[in-house]
Amino acid sequence: MAGRDLTDDAARREELLDAIRREVRATAHLTDRDALDPAVYEALRKVDRARFVRPEDRDLAWYDGPLDIGAGQTISQPFIVALMTDLLALGPRSRVLEIGTGSGYQTAILAELAGEVYTVERIAELAEAARARLQELGYRNIHFRTGDGRQGWPEAAPFDAIIVTAAAESIPPALIEQLRPGGHLVIPVGPPWQTQRLLDITRDADGHIEQRELLPVAFVPLR
Ligand code: SAH
Repeated sequence: MAGRDLTDDAARREELLDAIRREVRATAHLTDRDALDPAVYEALRKVDRARFVRPEDRDLAWYDGPLDIGAGQTISQPFIVALMTDLLALGPRSRVLEIGTGSGYQTAILAELAGEVYTVERIAELAEAARARLQELGYRNIHFRTGDGRQGWPEAAPFDAIIVTAAAESIPPALIEQLRPGGHLVIPVGPPWQTQRLLDITRDADGHIEQRELLPVAFVPLR
């Protein structure tokens, strides 16, 4: 980008990672972890968040905060992106389902770490913009769908991990069904426009569900 200082850009990325590390330590009593997988930090360093925010917000892209992306939606706070990604325990062969593509930023982070990413967005305008952006960035392991993510993506199930980036009032049963035994479903659950609880849900081979409550979060509603 003309006029943008690359050294400055690299420094801002490191500052963001430091902010996330501090936030991880500050919330360790709620999340049970005082460090994240180094691969998650590497993905956050690599993906240029400035490409996912509105042009007028580029200067804010490397701050650890959410931003408006239009259509009444937001790009999540990087710390939350990092934490949720870490909870998914992804590897290079993982198949992951994301509900709420939004800007596509979280999608890109997932695509850096997983084998295949399936992402569903309700608002066509956002889904199209994210698809164009992620294709331009060269990602070839992302599958897009426009529609109601509460139904999951039955044809591609089961998934090793499922992440929901909008607040659900209750856990959509289809998502539990489409989770592979041993896999993690990470989802904010609670009333809309208030504080929700970030949940980490796992199921075993018998379909037995275990649920862990992590920290309070604030997401736009799942509709
Ligand atoms: N991960 C995104 C966050 C987007 S905000 C990012 O990093 O930018 C949550 C998104 O969930 C919004 O784009 C919203 O339109 C979408 N959403 C809400 N309800 C949905 C549903 N039922 N199915 C699919 N997407 C939904």
